Amino acid sequence: MSGASPVERLDDARAAIAKAASASGRDAGEITLIAISKTQAAEAIVPLLDAGHRVFGENKVQEAEAKWPALCETYSGVELHLVGQLQSNKAEAAVALFDAIHSVDRLSLAQAIAAAAARQGRKPLCFVQVNIGSEPQKGGCAVEGLAQLIAQCGDIGLPVAGLMCLPPAGVEPAPYFALLAELARRHGVTDLSMGMSADFKTAVTIGATHVRVGTALFGERA
Ligand SMILES: *Cc1c(COP(=O)(O)O)cnc(C)c1O
Repeated sequence: MSGASPVERLDDARAAIAKAASASGRDAGEITLIAISKTQAAEAIVPLLDAGHRVFGENKVQEAEAKWPALCETYSGVELHLVGQLQSNKAEAAVALFDAIHSVDRLSLAQAIAAAAARQGRKPLCFVQVNIGSEPQKGGCAVEGLAQLIAQCGDIGLPVAGLMCLPPAGVEPAPYFALLAELARRHGVTDLSMGMSADFKTAVTIGATHVRVGTALFGERA
C-alpha cells in the first residue's frame, strides 16, 4: 500500500468503508469520507480533486485559508470540514471558509460561530466535540456537560448535527466509539464524526457517518 498513489489509496479506503458498512448492515452512502489534507501542499491534494473527490478536512484556519480559496476557484463543489480546535476570534474566518465545524466544545465558541453564521448568511454543519476519554490535556466538551451545551446551541440558533471524538491513544477505540454513538442517541443528534486512518473501519461498524482519514490517503505527514 505504501507504493500506491493517493488516488489508489482513496479507492482502497472507499472499498474498506463499503465492506465495513455492508458487514454491519449499513448503507455505505450514509458515510462521508473526509480526506484530511492538513500539512499537505496543494500539489498533493490536486490528484484527489482530479479524481472527483470533493470532501476535505483541515485542522487550522490559517493553513486552510492559504490553500483552499485558489483550489476552490478551479474545482467546484468542494466541501471543507474544520476538524481542529477553534478559537472564538477565528470563528468569522472559519465560517467563511468551512462548510462544517467538528470542534464546537463550549458555549462562547458556539456563540461566536452563530453570530458569524448570521452575519454571513451561512449555515455550517456543527458537531460538538466530546472529550470521550475524559483526558485533561484534550479539547472537547465533558460528557457531563454535553446535554447542556447541545440545548444551548439550539437556543442560540446553531443546531447541533452530530458529535465528534478523538479516542485516547494506544487503547482499543471501539468502546469510545460505542459511547459516542450512545450519547448521540440519547441526545437526539444523528451524525457521528469518528474514525481516523488506524480505526475508520471499526468506526463505520459502530455507526460513524463521517470518517476523517489523512495518513492512509496521503502517507505519513512530514
Ligand atoms: C489529523 C487528524 C485526523 C487524521 O488523522 P490520520 O491518522 O492521519 O488519518 C483526523 N481527525 C483529526 C481531528 C485530526 O487532527
